[in-house]
Amino acid sequence: MNDQLDPKAILAALRTVLPKDTNNVALHEPRFSGNESAYVKECLDTGWVSSVGKFVDRFEVQLAEYTGAKRAIAVVNGTAALHVCLLLVDVQPGDEVIVPALTFVATANAVTYCGATPHFADSAFTTLGLDPGKLDAYLQKIGEVRGNNCYNKKTGKRIKAVIPMHTFGHPVDLDSLIEVCTRYRLVMVEDAAESLGSFYKGRHTGNWGKVSALSFNGNKIITTGGGGAILTNDEELGLRAKHLTTTARVPHPWELAHDMVGYNYRLPNINAALGCAQLEQLPSFLMKKRALAEQYRAALDEVKGVTFFTEPGHSKSNYWLNAFLLDEQESDKRDALLELTNRNGIQTRPAWTLMHRLPMYESCPRMELSNAEDLSRRLINIPSSAVLGEPYGEA
Ligand SMILES: *Cc1c(COP(=O)(O)O)cnc(C)c1O
Repeated sequence: MNDQLDPKAILAALRTVLPKDTNNVALHEPRFSGNESAYVKECLDTGWVSSVGKFVDRFEVQLAEYTGAKRAIAVVNGTAALHVCLLLVDVQPGDEVIVPALTFVATANAVTYCGATPHFADSAFTTLGLDPGKLDAYLQKIGEVRGNNCYNKKTGKRIKAVIPMHTFGHPVDLDSLIEVCTRYRLVMVEDAAESLGSFYKGRHTGNWGKVSALSFNGNKIITTGGGGAILTNDEELGLRAKHLTTTARVPHPWELAHDMVGYNYRLPNINAALGCAQLEQLPSFLMKKRALAEQYRAALDEVKGVTFFTEPGHSKSNYWLNAFLLDEQESDKRDALLELTNRNGIQTRPAWTLMHRLPMYESCPRMELSNAEDLSRRLINIPSSAVLGEPYGEA
């Protein structure tokens, strides 16, 4: 039948977008075409490579400026940023924290580091992130607000926070989610690891929750090698974040004293130097990614059985990692398609294994997760490096 999905037709469509002169296209590659070498060399020449130096301060100021957050605190990676975010909003051992089942494992791990339990929630088809409507209906059944806290009627535990994650850079439905969080007295902490450069209703993601986490891992839209940042509009929390991530050292000209158990999470100057250079190129990366997404959309529009995922309403996505969905009746062709594309040098990948399917999280509380289950059967990520959005022939 000719109305069925043909994996070869998808491969051909992808090839019309991707460079012709290579048979090895990665899912996501970093690009260092700016001041990276100059800034890193400056660190080496001055000896300021580690915990002190001007690039850390500069990176933090520039991140705050770009995102519109009052304070940005640079840390060693996005996972550490999430961990500290949860400590800052007082997630305690024994608490539960709502986390999407469809996310990278770090979101759930950060909850576990605090001695709390991740509680898995379903995703929306429109955003690929937390579904506020389903969460509301679920909390009506299992949640109970007492005083300024929400409790899980089934486990008796406090549900302290919700961590929406902006999947592949696409903002979640923040207005609706904030309304649910307010009604149930839940603190919102954004996992904005994938969404630097993404805006919801004109305001940057990671600038809506009480605190939020960014990542600059090697595969993210900008990279510092490894790195992350905490964003907040609360001056007090910003100061505490800095203190907690720098071993809680008490400022003093020569004495080494600490007033609590802190963490050695601060970003080294040499990594921040990379970050400053990468941030200068973010606007150009965003333009190229948008151009690439548009090319994919047009090419895949011509193919039966698939839909390219485009930014949700009210949002401007960074299109960090492009994705398409197989039609429901075609999901059994997913693995054949992954096999065919990878064998032909085009790196593709399914969505993450859902959190409640991982051995350490299979007994955690969760709501009915039919959307996430469905998405994980039908979603495929395709090569998304900024360089692929440049007109062919350009360096
Ligand atoms: C990358 C990522 C993180 C963590 O980032 P690292 O810097 O690798 O620790 C957290 N959450 C999500 C959704 C991510 O994609």
